[in-house]
Amino acid sequence: MTVLARRTRPLVTLVATTAVGAALVAAGPPSAQAAARPSDSGATGSSGSTARGTGGAVSSVDANASRIGRDVLRRGGNAADAAVAMASALGVSEPYSAGLGGGGYFVYYDARSRKVSTIDGRETAPVGITPDAFVDPSTGKPYSFTPELVSSGVAVGVPGTLATWQSALDRFGTRSLARTLAPSIELARDGFVVDDTFRSQTLDNKTRFAAFPDTARLFLPGGDAPKVGTRFRNPDLARTLTRIARQGTDAFYRGPLAAEIADVVQHPRKDPASTLPAPAGSMTSRDLATYKVRQQAATKIRYRGLTVHGMAPSSSGGTTVGEALNIVENHRLRGGSGTARSLHLYLEASARAFADRGAYVGDPAFVKVPTTTLSSQRFADSRDCTIDPTTAAPKPVSPGSLDGTGCATAKADEKPDTENVSTTHLSVVDRWGNAASYTLTIEQTGGSAMTVPGRGFLLNNELTDFTAAYDPNDPNRIAPGKRPRSSMSPTIVTENGKVAYVVGSPGGATIITTVLQILLNRIDLGMSLPEAVAAPRASQRNTATTPAEPAFIAAYEQALAPYGQKLVPSGDQFTSAAEIGAAAAIEVGPRGRLTAVAEPTRRGGGSAMVVRPGR
Ligand code: GLU
Repeated sequence: MTVLARRTRPLVTLVATTAVGAALVAAGPPSAQAAARPSDSGATGSSGSTARGTGGAVSSVDANASRIGRDVLRRGGNAADAAVAMASALGVSEPYSAGLGGGGYFVYYDARSRKVSTIDGRETAPVGITPDAFVDPSTGKPYSFTPELVSSGVAVGVPGTLATWQSALDRFGTRSLARTLAPSIELARDGFVVDDTFRSQTLDNKTRFAAFPDTARLFLPGGDAPKVGTRFRNPDLARTLTRIARQGTDAFYRGPLAAEIADVVQHPRKDPASTLPAPAGSMTSRDLATYKVRQQAATKIRYRGLTVHGMAPSSSGGTTVGEALNIVENHRLRGGSGTARSLHLYLEASARAFADRGAYVGDPAFVKVPTTTLSSQRFADSRDCTIDPTTAAPKPVSPGSLDGTGCATAKADEKPDTENVSTTHLSVVDRWGNAASYTLTIEQTGGSAMTVPGRGFLLNNELTDFTAAYDPNDPNRIAPGKRPRSSMSPTIVTENGKVAYVVGSPGGATIITTVLQILLNRIDLGMSLPEAVAAPRASQRNTATTPAEPAFIAAYEQALAPYGQKLVPSGDQFTSAAEIGAAAAIEVGPRGRLTAVAEPTRRGGGSAMVVRPGR
């Protein structure tokens, strides 16, 4: 495959001389100084959406979490220690996106062995779940997705987050769980300053939260979302984390807390006056006691001389990002006057990869998932030959044939995309060159809206990621003990065996396209990493039209029209935000120079920090 220089500087002048390029610049990357959410403890220097320097780097959506991670690195902890400390902090300050009640995927590069490993900490369906769990017994019809299913006990999966933290520390870390949790216990006890994002996420969930008095007591004190500028404390969560720090993971997976979690799932504690149906789930203490993370090989593909390591199924992230990259690798992508053609190819490749994801990816413990084939160049070539470089195919396109020989695609039936947009991602690189890429979630913003009384955290509604349709051939059908297919795509890119990029994002199924687009922007389109993250996004997931951010539509609609690409404004059913994703990324440059990059504006702006700031 062609090896293109990837350390190119952005070709700003060249780009600006073309119509498309001018739009790119106009819509383009905000300054690296753009506002980030404030850290409460007066972190010094380097807080913002871009930080450059050495000695270790962190990036996340939240300044408290990034400060805590940076401090772990500064005091000699490694990337795994910092990642767990940051994740726990995000459970405090981003409680609607992550926390003890959820799950996620951890990808780790060990500098000594130069090996990438993964932890699958995905939530799991209870063993008592039945294939018709999402059907209302009183009507015989499927529960409506919103509001019935999303705020229910039946959608809660057995949480994997704490087990992931312990596994990450055991396998890669240097510190105890107790020491790693200490800063987030302090953060929960002392509180953080409420910003616009926290308030608006609370307001978006107000009706759901109000239906569960335990949740309302915590997140709607006095009946309203906490005001911007006030301090939000969560002493219940501080106590829960302290208990876990003292007693270990059994304090969560066994004993009283496990029994309480099971009880809430089986008997959702809703306000009797609420009309929310909140159907019950079947989770038992035994489901919690038997929860285990999975260790498995990362997905791996070669792309223009780099190696891209991703998350294997039960997430579809690694295979789908990998397949799309393998497809576009057959083409020369470039910015400037080549931008429209490059974006057209990106959108077409993404549609094919999503068709194959839908047809073939589920939990490998339950269905045969052709991970190797989906990650192979031969298969990608058979998909690429269905792409016309000048004209968009009618979508949805049909999936490819796994023998990799076909070169035909037909229009397929549209499938509803019911994944929600929430979640959070963190990226870390330490002074030794170890790296962690960790995406964690409680599914949609606010999860199931059910908290465990007096424990300070929300339970996920991850089982809504199972396909709602009752097609027996769907690899992502509900089954007892099964993990729903995810889109989370924590990614580590290596070059000559060393880390070059660490990337990830929230955003439901758009996670895949966000990671893909950032990599293409950086590797192929001549953008710097801060520009690649800030650039406007579009997400083609095998649907007739492509949802795109307003800035993407403004920049590229005209240029993409001759290709037959149709853009529509992005946005989901729960919030008014048209944003796609909230990425956190790091680049390791020559002589270990680090560029940590968070979002300049999406989700209120993220926070990137380095241990020793400097060019
Ligand atoms: N449940 C989604 C997944 O696993 C993540 C949720 C989100 O990012 O909104 O793919």
